[in-house]
Amino acid sequence: MLKINTDMHTHTVASGHAYSTVDEMAKGAFTKGIKLIAITDHGPQLPGGPHIYHFGNISVVPDKLYGVRIIKGVEANILDRGRLDLEAEDLARLDFVSAGLHRLTGHKLKNKKDYTEATIKAMENPYLDMITHPVQKEYPLDLEKVARAAAENNVILELNASSYSPKKDHTRGIKSESLKLVKLAQKYGFKLAVNSDAHFHDEIGEYSSLNFIFESDIFDEKLIINRSPKNIINYLKNREKRLAKLKKTV
Ligand SMILES: [Zn+2]
Ligand SMILES: [Zn+2]
Repeated sequence: MLKINTDMHTHTVASGHAYSTVDEMAKGAFTKGIKLIAITDHGPQLPGGPHIYHFGNISVVPDKLYGVRIIKGVEANILDRGRLDLEAEDLARLDFVSAGLHRLTGHKLKNKKDYTEATIKAMENPYLDMITHPVQKEYPLDLEKVARAAAENNVILELNASSYSPKKDHTRGIKSESLKLVKLAQKYGFKLAVNSDAHFHDEIGEYSSLNFIFESDIFDEKLIINRSPKNIINYLKNREKRLAKLKKTV
């Protein structure tokens, strides 16, 4: 049985509609045997989301709490033309940058073509590491195009457990599309991440809603970048090198 003991997508009270503190999240992760979590609160354009200072000051959070490695990140909002709601100088301070399409963030994107183009443009941002919930009913994407862009830009695409959580009133995922994403990862060679999108500490590392993927014939755990702390830390080290090079060329 696959046991993924990291979680690269979690929210704290700072997001405005999540219910645990960083301290509670770390304790929750420890209780569940999760060794590494990324704190990825929403970008400032989401109603109730944190002010830009939240991200500027996040270095005060320890790198380890209760033995759990804490990665300081964001789930930024993808806006018109693929712009993110944090500027490059803010993104540069973070350990991990994810972004996704969300409601009520002021974007004027209307259809699959718009969502796909904005997502691909966002993926060209050199600071971006991961697209969150690329499969969601509300914002359908042309997965073939997004997959090719993920491979070209070395961006991770997420398998989001919360999208299939029985705790939610409605599931936003589409199972056939999530399975297609796994096939595309094999075809194009980009990486996937398995994350909870926890909005409460007991959701951290809860991936059983994705069993339909793990149990399918096409699934291969080598596609999962966060399958172990070592694997994701290697990714983060390479990321640092990549961004250091970027600084030199600016
Ligand atoms: Zn999201
Ligand atoms: Zn989220």
